[in-house]
Formats: sequence, C-alpha cells, structure tokens
Amino acid sequence: MKVGLVTYTPEEVEGFDLHVYYVKRADGSVFSVARDMQNDVTCFCDAKAIRENPSIVAVSKNGPALRKNRKINVPFDFVCPTNPEYKAEVLDYIEGLGRERIQGVTLNLYHFAEEEFCVCSRCVELWRQSGLNWTEWRAQTVTNFLKEAKSLVKGTFAVEMFPDPVLAKERFGINFKRIAELVDYFHVPLSSRDYLTNYWVDLLARDFIKILKKPVVVELSAEMLTDEKTEALLKTVAYLSRHNLRGVLLLVHNSENARQVCSFAVNNSEFRKWLKKYEFTEMTRIVDDWAKLY
Ligand SMILES: [Zn+2]
Repeated sequence: MKVGLVTYTPEEVEGFDLHVYYVKRADGSVFSVARDMQNDVTCFCDAKAIRENPSIVAVSKNGPALRKNRKINVPFDFVCPTNPEYKAEVLDYIEGLGRERIQGVTLNLYHFAEEEFCVCSRCVELWRQSGLNWTEWRAQTVTNFLKEAKSLVKGTFAVEMFPDPVLAKERFGINFKRIAELVDYFHVPLSSRDYLTNYWVDLLARDFIKILKKPVVVELSAEMLTDEKTEALLKTVAYLSRHNLRGVLLLVHNSENARQVCSFAVNNSEFRKWLKKYEFTEMTRIVDDWAKLY
C-alpha cells in the first residue's frame, strides 16, 4: 500500500509515494500547478464565481445550492454543471493543465449538488430533450463532462467523490460503473476532525473496494496534531493497510505537518509494538521506512 499526501502547499515530502496538490479550490482560488504531482481540480464548486455572478448557481425547489441555504445541506456552493460558459472555463483550465509537466489530474466536485438539483430552465430543457429519466440524464451529464475533461489531459486521471457508496448516482449523478471506465483510480475522501471513532472508515473502505472496478485510494484528515488524535489516525491507517487499497492519502497543511505524523509514528515505541503484536505487517513496513528518514 502506498502512502501519500494531499496538501495545500506544493512540496514533496520524503517517505510519501503520492503527492496530490489542491490547485483549484472550492472557494474559487486557483494556484500555479505543482510540477510532477497529481493536481486536484475543483470543478463546479466556486464560491467566488457565484458571488460575482449569482445567476450561475445550481437551483432546486428548495432554493439555491449555497451553504447559507438551510433548507438543504450542502458543504460548498455549487455552480449549475450545464452552464455553458462556466463549463467552458473549467475545461479550458483543465486543458491548460494538460500542457504542463504534471503527474496527472484528479477532479473533484464535478457532479450535481444533490438529487433535487439542478432545475434551472436550461437543465430541465436538456433533460426533456434527452428522453432519459432524471437519474440517467444527470448521470450521463456528469459522465460526459468527465470524458471531455479526460480527453484534454495526459498522465494519471482520477476522481474524488462524496463517500456515498449506495446513493451516489441518484444524489449526485455519479455512475461508478461508467466512471470506472475512465479513471486510473478512485480517490475516496473520508474526512474527519479525528479518528477516535473509526469503524465507519473501515466500513466505507470495504464498501468502495467491493463496488469500484478500479483501484481505490482513501484520504484521511491529518491536520490534527494532538498525540491522542495522531495515534488514532495512525491506528486507522493500520487497519486500512489490511485492505486491498492502492493507497492512503493524508490531508495535511504543509510538509512540516506531514513530517510530524511520521516522527510521531517512528518515536512511539508502544504504537510500533502494537503493530508487531497484532501483525500489521504492511503498516510495520511503512513505519520502518519512515524510521530511516525521521
Ligand atoms: Zn442547471
């Protein structure tokens, strides 16, 4: 199993095999590409663009897909994914990445906000013209966008998703079967403030490994730095290392944050004994490798 990082700073850190950099983010900020890394692009969530032009937001009977709309529960502000101008801008941006020396592109938030989105007049008209039912039309819209995006880039192509293994197609238009034909791997973010309770991580990892027909990479949050939380995180990674995952990614602020996680693992003899006692052979190998560096 590989261990990697998802970061807000484009720095490679020794001891990690995968580096994912958030180059275009949900608040609307866009940064210079990270060379030789996997560049992660937020597609249809863009708080800044919606502030500048509110008419591009996705809409439902319960109002717009905005965080401040309490009639719904969305974590970001969503642009309508059939808006031709905004979509063209995103694809232009992705095409630009295709000209850079990068390892590959990961797309996130490339789908609908929720099941009841989007019912703007353009979406309703496109749906009617398609002759498909609501779920199939939305899934086709999302898959076609991913096909177009993939055709513009080279290297490793991956997607993130909302970690809902059961209702992803109905809710977001994410058709795992079709998308598996396009991607090199799936990136499943299982974000949390801590992993002191972690049964759900194991549960969702198992479900996704079973249903996704491409390799799976799981992302865990590692920005927390109390000893108790770091130990819980590392034990959660240890349990994941028993599954057939391509890798685990740790979300960190920066390289210092990543090094702190490694040195905590290396210098915690109780944790290393625990790994040996319960025969976490893959995690033992990972921490032994870190011990050569930290
Ligand atoms: Zn729409």
